[in-house]
Amino acid sequence: MDTFHELRNTKLGPALVKALEARHFEAYYFADLPPAAEKVFSLIPQEHVVSWGGSMTAGAMDLYAEAAKRGYKLINRDAAKSPEEKVELMRQGLLCDTYLMGTNALSEDGQLVNVDGNGNRVAALCYGPRQVIIVTGINKAAKTLDDAIARARNWAAPLNVQRFAANKTPCNISGTCGDCKSAESICAQVVITRLCKPAGRIKVIIIGQDLGF
Ligand code: SF4
Repeated sequence: MDTFHELRNTKLGPALVKALEARHFEAYYFADLPPAAEKVFSLIPQEHVVSWGGSMTAGAMDLYAEAAKRGYKLINRDAAKSPEEKVELMRQGLLCDTYLMGTNALSEDGQLVNVDGNGNRVAALCYGPRQVIIVTGINKAAKTLDDAIARARNWAAPLNVQRFAANKTPCNISGTCGDCKSAESICAQVVITRLCKPAGRIKVIIIGQDLGF
């Protein structure tokens, strides 16, 4: 990352933290991944059962393997041996203690925007787990709420869908959102988290890097 990006991030990151705190999120900014990962684990009591929704950023931080290494009890849908078991583990994940996830976008006034197909990730964000820890690159920041929604729908979703070769939605064919009503759509839910309630339940860790989509 060049000096000008780094310089901008040292200004924008703390401003995003303030905007999130004004909406009752707990929020932190780190320039680099290793201290951000340490912060994540400092927020998780050892007795917590940990689960997660798919996140490129959490993957880049190696959070899942590290959680296993640190001895947390995990609900790991990726270890499922059948689609049925995977669904069951996703259901169980909704009542874990700590849920790890990313966000598709974050407006400069501190609102989160997430698009989801099955809805398990946004369900956990809204209610269920005792706490949710969001890890996000600063590239997810958008100027306004409308910009954040546009980012999630027009940028993140058509990129995310590329991970599923069998998915035949318009974005996976053309590379751009066709505002589809397909049963395969990964955009069934568009969730705006306007406030964190109860206060502090959602922790947002912003990293001054380009991470994920
Ligand atoms: S085409 Fe459908 S699945 Fe693809 S990004 Fe648009 S709404 Fe989502």
